[in-house]
Amino acid sequence: MSARNAETSELRPAVFLDRDGTLIEERSYPTRPEDIVPLPGVGEALQRLASAGFLRIVLTNQSAVARGMLTEKGLAILHEGLVQQLSTHGGGLEAIYYCPHHPDGIAAGYNHVCSCRKPKRGLLDLAMREHSIDLSRSIFIGDSRRDLFLDAGPSAGRLLVETGHSLEDCSGADAVVPSIVEAVDWVIERFAPGQLDRG
Ligand SMILES: [Mg+2]
Ligand SMILES: [Zn+2]
Repeated sequence: MSARNAETSELRPAVFLDRDGTLIEERSYPTRPEDIVPLPGVGEALQRLASAGFLRIVLTNQSAVARGMLTEKGLAILHEGLVQQLSTHGGGLEAIYYCPHHPDGIAAGYNHVCSCRKPKRGLLDLAMREHSIDLSRSIFIGDSRRDLFLDAGPSAGRLLVETGHSLEDCSGADAVVPSIVEAVDWVIERFAPGQLDRG
């Protein structure tokens, strides 16, 4: 997109989604395609977000790369499979942004302190730039407080789901809900009430 288009195009709302424990089953360091198991109702939930006018963007820490358990190529294959699985359930994603780094890793080039490992906002800033996103109308959904980017500024909602890590500290969340299905209900009720019948 040219700079001129970026200036003139309207900013859009997005839902920023965590991956593990939010879209797919929480498994420590999934590295094989069979480890990627979408949670119940995820495909339809993503479809409802699109109908309500939200971009769907995944922001995920994947330190398995830094830890030498997975290459970026392998991660790309996992993500192709994820997108394929979601599409068979009517869902989709506009983008997946990941941080492959970790300071304790062993893989050269990845084992350093970076600016994109959540809760740092490198991935968020990149996604916002590349997709012309209006943060104040956007939503965060995850199973950890670091997924909520609490320091990033006002948003339209920050939701924690109970399908992943056990939630010890929920401060800063606007709601804690059982799964992404109820999280999307929360979003639709507030921001696209005309879509309620479509669920
Ligand atoms: Mg998670
Ligand atoms: Zn990083």
